[in-house]
Amino acid sequence: MTDMSPMTSIQSRLDTLRQSLPEGVGLVAVSKFHPVEALREAREDGQTLFGESRVQELAAKVAELGDRDYCWHFIGHLQTNKVRQLLRLRPALIESVDSARLLDEIDREAARQGIIQNVLMQIHVAREETKFGFAPEELLEWFGDRRFENLKAVHICGVMGMASNTDDRERIAADFRAIRSAYDEIKAMCPDLRGFSIVSMGMSDDYPVAVECGSTLVRVGSAIFGPREY
Ligand SMILES: *Cc1c(COP(=O)(O)O)cnc(C)c1O
Repeated sequence: MTDMSPMTSIQSRLDTLRQSLPEGVGLVAVSKFHPVEALREAREDGQTLFGESRVQELAAKVAELGDRDYCWHFIGHLQTNKVRQLLRLRPALIESVDSARLLDEIDREAARQGIIQNVLMQIHVAREETKFGFAPEELLEWFGDRRFENLKAVHICGVMGMASNTDDRERIAADFRAIRSAYDEIKAMCPDLRGFSIVSMGMSDDYPVAVECGSTLVRVGSAIFGPREY
């Protein structure tokens, strides 16, 4: 080969990861806690979709890298008092809507800013008590009551979830199947929900299981960028 610059380890890990994902499964490169240079390397390798979990950090990265060549997903717990600032950054998708109160606040603020905000509803199935999100029954009830019809400026594009933090593959698979089946039930119950098509699940340690269980979007950080230094 002539005239090719050497691939960085980020690029080679990214290439390997992409090759392992079936067609139709998207990849969010979770870049939280990593410097903009790391994102630029991934961008040079064709990655456009990045995930961040803190509003301040996203603001700094958008200021430096922009939103033309980079597409941003917000994946962290969001406090209602940060909604205005986050929406001004125009994230393509907020994946972590974990309460009706937060959803209402996003709706209000998006209407105020004159935009339609795309979101995912976060489902909580994992064992850990500290994880955020709707219980599956709670979310089914929310959709069953057709509460989405009250939204003026939010488009719900699907669901997001995490598996329990464990080495037990069976437990992880059961969690992912529970997320996928909540999504399927919502879709069956509300066939008129337009553009409800994303099941975001799977991280560095468990994305192959998530894909087997019906994920359409994986969120992978350390397997691309290496360990985070908090
Ligand atoms: C950090 C994070 C990820 C990525 O985690 P890795 O283990 O580094 O792949 C995915 N999803 C969410 C919600 C996260 O906060």
